[in-house]
Amino acid sequence: MVLNISSLLSGEKNKIDIDYMLSVSAENMEGAVNLSGVIFPEEARVTGAITDNAGYMRMTLSVTLPYIALCARCAREVSGEFAIDFERTVVPEGMVEDAEEKEEDFVVVENGMLDIDEQLSEILLLDFPTRILCKEDCKGLCHKCGKDLNEGDCDCPRTEVNPAFAKLLSMFDEE
Ligand SMILES: [Zn+2]
Ligand SMILES: [Zn+2]
Repeated sequence: MVLNISSLLSGEKNKIDIDYMLSVSAENMEGAVNLSGVIFPEEARVTGAITDNAGYMRMTLSVTLPYIALCARCAREVSGEFAIDFERTVVPEGMVEDAEEKEEDFVVVENGMLDIDEQLSEILLLDFPTRILCKEDCKGLCHKCGKDLNEGDCDCPRTEVNPAFAKLLSMFDEE
């Protein structure tokens, strides 16, 4: 959504509420390697507000996005909901340099318009989990026979690994 915030800029209002649904798909998020194979069965709900406090404008947003993905270890289907809150300082064009000096996250308003979806794409690209597991301790599949080890051991010979070393190895799995 591109929001017209001219009523804030003119001082006519000091708050604009935001509440809309955003359609998201891995395909329309270009470069989102972490979203490949992830399906979004419902639209994202975006709520929040832009407030103006004596010329200091702040945008606060909450996003909830239901997803379906495959467990990175056992390939079982996992459904969940990604939720994130974030804030940005909203800066009118021409005042960008000041904002850069403050070294904080900010968005620039162009011709009174604020592109919220662009902010959301950035957040999803950066913060959506890169690796989804069906459960923290998912045992994954046997590398030899492909059996789901969550359902029990298979008969494949296991190389005995020192438990301390195995723990270290598990830190590298799927990398
Ligand atoms: Zn799993
Ligand atoms: Zn096996």
